[in-house]
Amino acid sequence: MLLAKKIRIKVSPRDAETLEFMQAKCRALYNGHLGQLNAGAKWSLYDAKKTRQQSRQVDPAINAVYGKLLHEVCFRLDEAMQAFVRRVKVGETPGFPRYHPRQKFFTLKYPGMDIQVQGQHLVLPTGGCGKTKRLANIHATLTETAPSPFQEVAISKDAQGQYYATFLSETTTSPPQADDGSAIAYDLGIKTLATGYSTTGRFLHIGGFTAYRWYNKQRDKIRSLRSQCQKGSRRYRYRTMVYHRISEEKRRKQRDSLHKASAFLTRQAERAIVLGDLSQPQMVQKSRKATKRTKGLHRSVQNEWGLDQFIGMIQYKARRYGKDVYLISERYTSKDCSGCGYRQDMPLWKRTYRCPQCGLVMDRDDNSARNILARFLARLGPYPASQQDDVLSANSGI
Ligand SMILES: [Zn+2]
Repeated sequence: MLLAKKIRIKVSPRDAETLEFMQAKCRALYNGHLGQLNAGAKWSLYDAKKTRQQSRQVDPAINAVYGKLLHEVCFRLDEAMQAFVRRVKVGETPGFPRYHPRQKFFTLKYPGMDIQVQGQHLVLPTGGCGKTKRLANIHATLTETAPSPFQEVAISKDAQGQYYATFLSETTTSPPQADDGSAIAYDLGIKTLATGYSTTGRFLHIGGFTAYRWYNKQRDKIRSLRSQCQKGSRRYRYRTMVYHRISEEKRRKQRDSLHKASAFLTRQAERAIVLGDLSQPQMVQKSRKATKRTKGLHRSVQNEWGLDQFIGMIQYKARRYGKDVYLISERYTSKDCSGCGYRQDMPLWKRTYRCPQCGLVMDRDDNSARNILARFLARLGPYPASQQDDVLSANSGI
């Protein structure tokens, strides 16, 4: 599996200028191709690559950019287009790939074999050679030791103006698998990030990132202050900077809490981790029918948590430790009684499940976690889980 390691790098002012120049050219190329698509042209990776010579004649400055970075730009747009087409085919309504804004650093992706790491030194090549070389190679200092070997190095910059190198490397060893047959089912939700129920009858409650409300308030404050300034003025730009800083801090903290929760969650299960499949989330379905006021609410709550990101983290962490992740249909798991199977409507505001038939009283999420586990165990049946249609193994690339 692929692992990424992001390391802060230090560059001299001159090298920073070179990086800025190269990313500006790459972005111009990306946006240029995208502009043609927006004007109605048909995307073809092959044709896009062929126009390289033309762009070199139009803008000779592009020769100072390392050639493979320009190549990578086409692949990047190709990926975005493919994802777009794929989603349209499935019946979703995705947005068309967007322009990259000028104020943001366009990530530069170097193939691993073109990069030299000498101790703490990272050498990033620029375009041309001999007499045609206009800009000197970049010599960056790594603040941590780089993994070796690596396949790709991506150079990026954050809102504070610091540069980073992300190394992608392949790991082959995975720890031995503990196999005592135990499994934990998790119900992912809004109130608590995850509620688990194990085959040994243990309940687990994992709270999530709760500080987002504070961050949202801060962001709103800055935004309203900014709206009183004249656009483009010194004060306006300063407040934009503060706004970006707060946003990034929020993102970072949220990601951190998701990482910690997913690590904890994967550690708990001996063998299998069962998750409710969120492809048909109740929260989003409900919000479509709901009133105007609640329409955006559930959606934003879901985005706030980053549940998709969270599932991704669980999947790769589980893979790393040789455990299996199963996604099973979450349908009716919150409506059915985990004791007797009675089904009743459970609107989102009802936090406690009360069964009129057997008298079971249980937290809503506990009840669904129990149902998910029961469903998983029932489906395991006499066949291995991977042969069943409804049980999807995360290792098959989902
Ligand atoms: Zn019941």
